[in-house]
Amino acid sequence: MRLEDLPIRDDLRGRTPYGAPQIDVPVRLNTNENPYGPSESLVADLAEAVRSQAGELNRYPDRDAVALREDLAAYLGHGLTHERVWAANGSNEVIQQILQAFGGPGRSALGFEPSYSMHPIITTGASTEWIAGSREDDFGIDPDKAIAAIEEHRPAVVFLTSPNNPTGTALDPEVIARIVEAAPGMVVVDEAYFEFAREGTPSALTLLPGNPRLIVTRTMSKAFAMAGTRLGYLAAHPAVIEALLLVRLPYHLSSLTQAAARVALAHRGELLGTVDTLRAERDATVGWLRAKGLEVADSDANFVLFGRFTDRRTVWRDMLDRGVLIREVGPPGWLRVSIGTTEEMAAFRAALEGTL
Ligand code: PMP
Repeated sequence: MRLEDLPIRDDLRGRTPYGAPQIDVPVRLNTNENPYGPSESLVADLAEAVRSQAGELNRYPDRDAVALREDLAAYLGHGLTHERVWAANGSNEVIQQILQAFGGPGRSALGFEPSYSMHPIITTGASTEWIAGSREDDFGIDPDKAIAAIEEHRPAVVFLTSPNNPTGTALDPEVIARIVEAAPGMVVVDEAYFEFAREGTPSALTLLPGNPRLIVTRTMSKAFAMAGTRLGYLAAHPAVIEALLLVRLPYHLSSLTQAAARVALAHRGELLGTVDTLRAERDATVGWLRAKGLEVADSDANFVLFGRFTDRRTVWRDMLDRGVLIREVGPPGWLRVSIGTTEEMAAFRAALEGTL
């Protein structure tokens, strides 16, 4: 039996799954994880939180994860309360729930590429048409062109990623505000990398008051160094959360996930303490790559897009042979490196020099 012999949905035929390689090599700089693991004392607190839940694993978790949502609202600030915050297993699941509630057959979602590859995958998985808008040469979004695309296609959902993956580009909130005003449906600002943005970059959270069709998504996978926990969240008008309750699976967030995420939030001083180091390492990486004569996109995230190579596949492969896994992603000719520890970045530079 082969996949194509199964009575699979017609719109899934011929598609390929999301596939960042998970290869066991010494230096893994390909999925924008935070390279710093939790301290011994945080590990002990996480273990204690799991222990305290373990005796009640015969019971379902809090279906609405209220205590966790209160903690997330307190972290976000901006006067948010748990009624305006929702959480799920990674921001991917948050985005999937948004598409389940606001997309669907006969509806479309618009994004501006190059951007996060899961936005179209989640969109089409929710039987929603994907419309690929485009970014400018500097990877920013021209608001006039974006509004023209919105008026042409009338999408049910618009995706804006800021800072953008894989380019690192942050959007000006005025561009976001103009797009929100023009969009007939929901606007999702994916801020997975927001904590890495350069000082003074405003969050789209500032635009929430008065914009009930705006949703801002975040994750604990990146700056919070909790990718293994699978915890993503969003802030929006309380009516949006009510819509998501219609599609979420009951008890979707395990009691272990909720407990671990709450411990991580309580230790945010330690976890977010690595952000400044990673930003400095990012800026140094950008400078080093430019000094090598390469083209480098400005980055407000924990990764850097650089190029352009006539044969990026060979460069990627040569780097892997030297024990450094980076990502072959973005427009043709570009490669992306996630920012690792000081030692990992030294290994990256040495490996790249070897390939150039
Ligand atoms: N949004 C963007 C822009 C991302 O790059 C990622 C992870 N690569 C995610 C969302 C999803 O992250 P998670 O599901 O781990 O929260």
